[in-house]
Amino acid sequence: MKILVINAGSSSLKYQLIDMQNESVIAKGLCERIAIDGSRLVHKANGQTYEFTKDMPNHTVAIKMVLDALVDKQCGVISDMSEISAVGHRVVHGAEDYSTSVVIDEKVLQSCKDNSELAPLHNPANIMGIKACMEVMPDTPMVAVFDTAFHATMPEYAYLYGMSYDDYKNYRIRKYGFHGTSHMYVSQEAAKYLGKDIADTKIITCHLGNGSSITAVKGGKSVDTTMGFTPLDGVPMGTRSGSVDPAIIEYWMQKTGKSVADAMKHLNKECGMLGLSGTSSDFRDLCDNGGLDNPRNKLAVDIFAYAVKRYIGSYTAVLNGVDAIVFTAGVGENTHYVRERALSDMDYLGIKLDKKANDNCPRGQIADISAKDSKVRILVIPTNEELVIARETKALVNL
Ligand code: AMP
Repeated sequence: MKILVINAGSSSLKYQLIDMQNESVIAKGLCERIAIDGSRLVHKANGQTYEFTKDMPNHTVAIKMVLDALVDKQCGVISDMSEISAVGHRVVHGAEDYSTSVVIDEKVLQSCKDNSELAPLHNPANIMGIKACMEVMPDTPMVAVFDTAFHATMPEYAYLYGMSYDDYKNYRIRKYGFHGTSHMYVSQEAAKYLGKDIADTKIITCHLGNGSSITAVKGGKSVDTTMGFTPLDGVPMGTRSGSVDPAIIEYWMQKTGKSVADAMKHLNKECGMLGLSGTSSDFRDLCDNGGLDNPRNKLAVDIFAYAVKRYIGSYTAVLNGVDAIVFTAGVGENTHYVRERALSDMDYLGIKLDKKANDNCPRGQIADISAKDSKVRILVIPTNEELVIARETKALVNL
């Protein structure tokens, strides 16, 4: 059984074809600059990378190109489209409508549209991807896997802000949380690694990438997370500010004479590591090859690591102890300086890093980087959101 996983953005479309028999990736790739000049498809299969430059005026054309590449005599991996048993789609926002993945029908599509007001940058793009697939593969079952679903288990006292209850009832203002598939995957992998039934575990998962969120996972369920109503909340990120005092926004607008839209653009695109360092949003630039010798780079990364540390401490209290802290995603998996700073001076809580293991952490595999006498296991676990989407799809389409 082969499942196609689609992650559609507004001008991009990432895909993976996964053979569910052994959960191996048979082909993967990316359509870039959809509906923009210079669109291209980068397709990886059979150990080779192929590049196709062709106009992609919309997502339907992009999907057609992907399918053509998958069945192509030279770079293809299947003989016929009918070999694709189902398609799993990443959908960012399921709001309170979906606490699990779901087979897509007209009703589901409509509620994804209704939830676009909560994720205007993401849901419309995800819907374009779904519609394009439905057009090109009308008889293939499709499943939506929501970034928010894993966090549906948060208690009301964790997901409500200290605003008026009417704001929640009338406008759906609450914490939703994101990166759910990643937090779910690495917490399950951590439980397996610990040799424990996940129902008996307390785990803090740190998904640190361009966007970052940290989640407290109790018995396999999310009980709190740092991203909120939108993915702007929580720790500072590549270009996002993370949580700030909300009164700053009015003050900043008065000082700069700029609009609400400008303020939101500023907080989303010009702050975080980029705004603090003044050099880059990319942790490789900030940390590698002497990047940390630049005091502003170091300050930016230290602010990030300090925010991660504060949430780890906070979630240790939320969970009443912790069995394992997991680092994942681009920064979590690769940037040892961040892990070291975030976990420094936490021995009071039983958290002790093995510096050598941390500095030499192997890539692409699970690594235990805790000191022998650390009460808490500190793990680096590569995330695999596509595999979660494929597994959820397989389970739902029941093939
Ligand atoms: P993600 O959003 O998970 O793709 O993570 C992207 C972030 O991870 C960027 O800031 C990268 O600089 C950072 N990163 C650090 N080291 C690496 C690496 N070896 N490979 C990929 N990303 C890395």
